[in-house]
Amino acid sequence: MDLLEYQGKQLLARHGLTVSPGKAVTTVEDAVSAANEIGYPVVVKAQVLIGGRGKAGGVKLAADEAEAREHAGNILGMDIRGHIVGTLWVEHASEIASEYYASVLLDRSAKQPLLIFSVEGGVEIEQVAKESPEKLVRHHVDALEGLSRKEAVAIATAAGADADVIQGVADALLALYEVWTEEDATLVEINPLIVTPAREVKALDAKVSLDGNALFRHPENQALSDGENEDPIERLAKEQGVQYVKLDGDIGVLGNGAGLVMSTLDVVARAGGAPANFLDAGGGSDAEKIKQAVRLILANDAVKAVLFNIFGGITRCDEVARGLIAAFEEIKPSVPFVVRLDGTNDVEGRKLLQEAALPNVHPARTMNEAAEMVVALAAVQSVGSPG
Ligand code: GDP
Ligand code: MN
Repeated sequence: MDLLEYQGKQLLARHGLTVSPGKAVTTVEDAVSAANEIGYPVVVKAQVLIGGRGKAGGVKLAADEAEAREHAGNILGMDIRGHIVGTLWVEHASEIASEYYASVLLDRSAKQPLLIFSVEGGVEIEQVAKESPEKLVRHHVDALEGLSRKEAVAIATAAGADADVIQGVADALLALYEVWTEEDATLVEINPLIVTPAREVKALDAKVSLDGNALFRHPENQALSDGENEDPIERLAKEQGVQYVKLDGDIGVLGNGAGLVMSTLDVVARAGGAPANFLDAGGGSDAEKIKQAVRLILANDAVKAVLFNIFGGITRCDEVARGLIAAFEEIKPSVPFVVRLDGTNDVEGRKLLQEAALPNVHPARTMNEAAEMVVALAAVQSVGSPG
């Protein structure tokens, strides 16, 4: 779950990092009154879940009301690499003496949190990593011991932070690590972490991703997931208590049980297809659940064909078939479905489907056969559809 810059900064501020006071707005008028209230100069910033906003013209300094109005008007509605700006963050502009970089993420291969710090901030960190990797200090944190002040000071010193702000940088690193652990974040990044002429250390930007599965431990962060920062179909699925993950392909996959769905994704991939989602209807899926699942799958326009893979245990195949028939009556899907029913009451289930003679439903006996069929059908759909 990715947070917008201003939401991330509010989270950082709760853990003691210094940020500029500001306001989130959605109209030019509100941006202007926020700017007047905050006091000039201000910086007007596009709130979208993508970096490089500055380069794209989505971050502008305004010295007075006229400039604030002009920038707010230009940035609202701006398309930044496919992200349309609907929200602005207006904050009091900072004076910058130096721009540093700091982040914490999980290094999966080392199985440890990784803290990265550099005095070459402000620019894209990938560029620093490529051109002058020695400028990045990478420090694995012992997850049980946590980050000590001594370590934080050593990191700041090794990276070459100005001597008079070593303690200030260490404070920021300690706070950043605290955000990462206590908020169950998967990534926290500050770029730039600035030093002002008054030698204050301050977060000017924030990129924060929270672990959605840990959100139940943070009721105060729950509201953050209601915003623009979640896939609308994933949100709907969550509300309905269905496990749904959006993927990038064009084949809708539905199964009952996470294990079966995962293997279905694998066989689809092996047959040369690309799954559009992971949808687990769960155990004991009744007709209503199946109907919901079909709706969720078809809510994604990218889906060209659907693979329905049910292995009946507690879930009864005749129930699933009834759900599918009910769903088709209501939804009338325009894409083909391949259905494999196996396990409890599979004979009845298949018979029900056959009798219903649903248009564009193709029965398959095995998982591999089903995968090959659905991949072929999706390919035909892609060729046949306009655009
Ligand atoms: P990004 O381009 O999406 O990473 O957006 P940032 O929030 O990092 O802003 C981009 C750049 O704008 C920063 O690296 C700064 O150089 C500049 N900038 C942002 N806020 C301020 C500010 O308050 N004062 C000044 N002088 N520059 C700012
Ligand atoms: Mn930035």
